[in-house]
Amino acid sequence: MNLLIMGLPGAGKGTQAETIVETYGVQHISTGDMFRAAMKNETEMGKLAKSFIDKGELVPDDVTNGIVKERLAQDDIQASGFLLDGFPRTIEQAEALDAMLADLGIKLDAVVNIDVDPSILVERLSGRFICRTCGATYHKVFNPTKIEGTCDKCGGHDFYQREDDKPETVKNRLDINIKQGAPILEHYGKLGLVKDVDGQQDIDKVSAAIKAILG
Ligand SMILES: [Zn+2]
Repeated sequence: MNLLIMGLPGAGKGTQAETIVETYGVQHISTGDMFRAAMKNETEMGKLAKSFIDKGELVPDDVTNGIVKERLAQDDIQASGFLLDGFPRTIEQAEALDAMLADLGIKLDAVVNIDVDPSILVERLSGRFICRTCGATYHKVFNPTKIEGTCDKCGGHDFYQREDDKPETVKNRLDINIKQGAPILEHYGKLGLVKDVDGQQDIDKVSAAIKAILG
């Protein structure tokens, strides 16, 4: 089985990817792992990517695409299939992926899209706050202090949020992801490959829904 997994940050994509890999025995291809492996094994594209990273520059799309293609061409992919995670990020990358799969004679079976309302994701992702005195971390919804406004660990009353955890920052990050993801979903939707899964249920129910779809 050859799969893509998509979902906004905080939608639970990583957890579901692990379950899919366990259930179907497919190779988990995440962008980060792929880059690390390519650079460690000093593949042609890995060396090229490293030259950009060493200079502190962004790795251009054609090099990223090249790393994906190198990975997809390996024997284990033909034998057990794959779950691609974190790629494609843009419609251009999706088109490049289609071309490389056609080249390699690989057919995509489904795009699993974990769907969660962005406003819920803002709540999930922006609730983290930290005690300024002792550094203990909390979450407004999932891990609040026992007494409101008082740190459980040190009794301090002074809390702050990291820039990354602030609702505005989270919202901007989600907006960018939505904007980039929409044309990809539309593209694979036209091909009848997108399988939407309600990601607002318990983790186990999301996994069961994915299993029901993939068979
Ligand atoms: Zn504290």
